[in-house]
Amino acid sequence: MSSTKPKVQPDDLDLAFFEATAGAGQLCLQHCGDCGRWTHPARYYCPHCASENYSFDPVSGKAEVHSFTVSHFSVESAWKDRVPYVTIVAETAEGPRLVARTDLKPGDVSIGQPILLRAEVVDPEFSYVWAEKAA
Ligand SMILES: [Zn+2]
Repeated sequence: MSSTKPKVQPDDLDLAFFEATAGAGQLCLQHCGDCGRWTHPARYYCPHCASENYSFDPVSGKAEVHSFTVSHFSVESAWKDRVPYVTIVAETAEGPRLVARTDLKPGDVSIGQPILLRAEVVDPEFSYVWAEKAA
């Protein structure tokens, strides 16, 4: 068993994103109540229509690999025994991109690959986002 993974202490709109995701038990993104488009990271105004009317709603989890990096070294004790590990920039089916962790091995990840995003709820204020191979 690895040591405890570091916990981010989000605030402001990041906290709202993480609280929604933890509360729903699945990835939630900021959703404009006027134009219906999705945004990440969260903003006070919709970048598409400037509306202040938004909520954080569950998304499908369907995404694809936009880009990825392979880490061969980590200073975090919780991740040291996982190297080399892959970190993915995922493009969600709803549009926004976000960073996700994955247990997929470096040779098993390619750009454009379909993936499924799921939330690992750590506590009511934080969740990791993990990418898995799409079925
Ligand atoms: Zn909008």
